[in-house]
Amino acid sequence: MAYDFHCRDAGAPSCGARITADTEQELRDKLTEHLRKHDVDQPNETLLDHLVASAEQR
Ligand SMILES: [Zn+2]
Repeated sequence: MAYDFHCRDAGAPSCGARITADTEQELRDKLTEHLRKHDVDQPNETLLDHLVASAEQR
């Protein structure tokens, strides 16, 4: 299962970031890294679950 995440689809319309990952764990790691750009240092599980759910799965 591959993931294709667009930040603007998750509620950040001004952010053009696109993140792709082959596994959910990889996506979570990349999201955690990217969220620092949104001034989120330690995203909680609820936020990560929401973002993972908003990613396209292929
Ligand atoms: Zn973003």
